[in-house]
Amino acid sequence: MQERLQKIISAAGITSRRAAEELILKGQVTVNGNVVTELGSKADPAKDTITVNGKPLQVSQKRLYILLNKPVGYMTTLDDPEGRPLVTDLLKEVNERVYPVGRLDYNTEGLLLLTNDGDWANKLMHPSNEIDKEYHVRVRGKAHASQLAQLAGGVLIDDRKTSPATVEVIQSSENNDWLSLTIHEGRNRQVRRMCEAVSLSVVRLKRVRYGSLSVGTLKPGEFRYLTDTEVRELG
Ligand code: URA
Repeated sequence: MQERLQKIISAAGITSRRAAEELILKGQVTVNGNVVTELGSKADPAKDTITVNGKPLQVSQKRLYILLNKPVGYMTTLDDPEGRPLVTDLLKEVNERVYPVGRLDYNTEGLLLLTNDGDWANKLMHPSNEIDKEYHVRVRGKAHASQLAQLAGGVLIDDRKTSPATVEVIQSSENNDWLSLTIHEGRNRQVRRMCEAVSLSVVRLKRVRYGSLSVGTLKPGEFRYLTDTEVRELG
């Protein structure tokens, strides 16, 4: 089936559609040996030979959308100079190369999406999308009402205030409180830094919800594929 070239390139998982358009405009894409610089050009990924920067494009057969319950002690990068375990090690039976949508810290657990659909991933991560991300945070000691109010109202991280968040204590024991904290941004190590900003020490951090998706009954290290409806609803 004929499809737009930028769509074929982004579906192969190497880059977003926007960046694929740039590659085409710069003359870095060929179809059957001919350089193509027209953005409307179409090709058939099953029949035509497409190259990007001289390399044949490996067209992904299928787009994959995975929800993993990430355990503590895994990196969300695709390799680690220190040789620590990678989340992709948990997807042994997945033959396609997939990429995490955003990051969770090595010591953060919970809901992580992975996909080979670059456009979908970029859409989810775009700040304008403001997707709710709910975290359960175990803090040392008790969280005071004033700390919760500051978290909810916004705190300064890198000289920029975080946008309003929803926060409540969901469990309380003598030594620790568990908070539910829902944020809409995805700044680097945001939850840990928000807690630091109000002098709360994070003992455990778990992402339990991403938009309409929750981690459900998946055990740490387990994953499932999203349904078509879930993919459409999010992206
Ligand atoms: N916020 C953090 O501080 N760490 C994560 O892994 C995710 C959100």
